[in-house]
Amino acid sequence: MTSPYQIVQLASLGQAMDEELARNYSVLPLWLESDPLPRLAEAPDAILLITSARLGLMRSWLEALPGLKAVCSWGVGYDNFDMQAAGEHGVAVSNTPDVLDNCVADMAWALMFSVARRTSLGDRYVKSGQWKSVGGFPLGTRVSGKRLGIVGLGRIGLAIAKRGAGFDMDVRYHNRRERPDAPYAYEASLTDLARWADFLILACPGGPETRHIVNSEVLRALGPQGILVNIARGSVVDDAALVEALRSGELGGAGLDVFTDEPRVPAALLDMDNVSLMPHVSSNTRETRHDLGRRVMDNVLSFMETGRLVTPLR
Ligand code: NAP
Repeated sequence: MTSPYQIVQLASLGQAMDEELARNYSVLPLWLESDPLPRLAEAPDAILLITSARLGLMRSWLEALPGLKAVCSWGVGYDNFDMQAAGEHGVAVSNTPDVLDNCVADMAWALMFSVARRTSLGDRYVKSGQWKSVGGFPLGTRVSGKRLGIVGLGRIGLAIAKRGAGFDMDVRYHNRRERPDAPYAYEASLTDLARWADFLILACPGGPETRHIVNSEVLRALGPQGILVNIARGSVVDDAALVEALRSGELGGAGLDVFTDEPRVPAALLDMDNVSLMPHVSSNTRETRHDLGRRVMDNVLSFMETGRLVTPLR
C-alpha cells in the first residue's frame, strides 16, 4: 500500500498557512510530536519535508523518508542541518533569507541599548520600588558616536550596520572575506576589530567554523568598557570565557539572544546587572512571523509545481 502523504510538516507556519497547505496537498502534520521519527514511517512517499532552524535536519529523518526530494526550512540558520546527508540523498534544501533581517537587526540594537543604557535594569529598578528606597541609578554608556564592530557582514550584519548611521557611529566589520560592495572598513583580524570597537555585534552563522571564535583573547581586546551582543548562535562564543571576562571586569557587558544549550543559560549570567538576556526571539514579531511562513510557502508551492525552490541553500 502506498502512503497518501506528499508533505511531512514538522513546523507549523501559523494556522492560516497550515490550512492553506492542507487544502492543496496531503500533509502529515507532526509539529506536536516531541520526536517525529517514529511517525515518519507513515509517509514513505513524501517528497517534501517542512522543518525549522530550531528543529534542524537529521540524517535519520532523511533515511526514514526515501521518497524525499526537498526540505523547506523556517528560519535562516542551518548549522544544525546535516547537509552532508542531504547531499547524499539528493535532497534540495531551502531556508527563508531576507525577510527577517530588519527584525533581527532591531533586536541586536535593542540588546545593545539595554546593556549600554541599562533599560532592562532600569525597568526592574522602578517596578521593584528601588527608585524610592535606594535612589541613585548607575551611569550608563553612551551609544551615539561610538565605534560599532560587526562580525558577519551578511544580510543581517548589513541591516545592523545601516542603523549605525542614524547614531553617528563609525562601523567596521570582520568576515572571512572583504566585501568590495560594503561602505565599511574591513578588519581581517577579529581580535583587532574587538580592540577597535566599543560595541561588538555577532551576526555570523554558527557551526564548527565559527565555534568559540569569540574567546578570552577577543573579549579582553573588547575591554572593560566594551559590550558584546550576540544574535548569531551561542556556539560562536566561549561561554566559560564570557562568564570569566564579565566576572573579572575584563568585559563591560553583554546582550545575548542565543545560547550554547538553549533553553539553558549559564547560571552565572542570571545575576549580572551588566547582562541582558532574551530567549532567542530576534525574529519574533507578528509581521516577520507571517513573512517567514509566506516564504516557506513560496518554496513549497514552487517545488511542488515546478520542482524548483525559490531560495535554495545549495
Ligand atoms: P548571511 O547573509 O549568510 O551572512 C553571514 C555572514 O557571516 C557573511 O557575511 C559571512 O561572510 C560571515 N561569515 C561566515 N563565516 C564566517 C566566519 N567563519 N568568520 C567570520 N565571518 C563569517 O547570513 P544572515 O542571513 O545574515 O544570517 C546570519 C546568522 O544569523 C544566521 O546564520 C543565524 O545563525 C543567525 N540568525 C539568528 C537569528 C535569531 O533569532 N537570533 C535569526 C536569524 C538568523 P564570509 O563568507 O565572507 O565569511
